[in-house]
Amino acid sequence: MTPLAERLQAIRAGIPPGVTLIAVSKTQPAEAIREAYAAGQRDFGENYAQEWRGKAEDLADLADLRWHFIGGLQTNKVKYLAGKVAYVHTVDRLELAQELSRRFAGKGAVARVFLEVNVGGETSKEGCAPEEVPALARAVSSLPAIEVVGLMCIPPPSEDPRPHFRRLRALRDELGVRELSMGMSADWKVAIEEGATFVRIGTAIFGARPKR
Ligand SMILES: *Cc1c(COP(=O)(O)O)cnc(C)c1O
Repeated sequence: MTPLAERLQAIRAGIPPGVTLIAVSKTQPAEAIREAYAAGQRDFGENYAQEWRGKAEDLADLADLRWHFIGGLQTNKVKYLAGKVAYVHTVDRLELAQELSRRFAGKGAVARVFLEVNVGGETSKEGCAPEEVPALARAVSSLPAIEVVGLMCIPPPSEDPRPHFRRLRALRDELGVRELSMGMSADWKVAIEEGATFVRIGTAIFGARPKR
């Protein structure tokens, strides 16, 4: 087994049924994704539309690979994603959702999305404010080619993540959606304890990230 396959297996052993492991491959080369795929991994997360496009082309032969877009998304990049990514985890404004709906409809597809919530109230951070979630969810759900499947968050890095994960779960329960995208290399076990259904793990699988 390769070191990567071993790390993957060790993480999988801690992931209960019903939780999807997303291998976050941003800035990693296509060969690393291929290696994880060979070890049985099928869900991959990418952050940068341009970089992702190149890799998606290189890996087009892996037909059952599922892409998750997990980075900040500019409206003008949505056209590249339409019909090609399984989930978008970072919807935080209506304008972006409108473009997703429009572009996915153009491909005869439905965009499955998470609303990203700024649980820590950080001023510099993407994500909508927790108070805005119900209204945003209502507006997004009324669009024709988009489905809100759940909520996503990245807690402030210097704080205990648990209360933030709890808050996201409570918001999810209020909304009546299904999924919770939360937990990264440093805190995925806590996230699973708090009800995560998708965890997004990069460095603990691939090792340190090459610079962009
Ligand atoms: C990079 C990234 C991850 C993975 O982070 P690691 O600490 O390497 O596991 C997860 N989620 C998002 C949104 C990211 O940008």
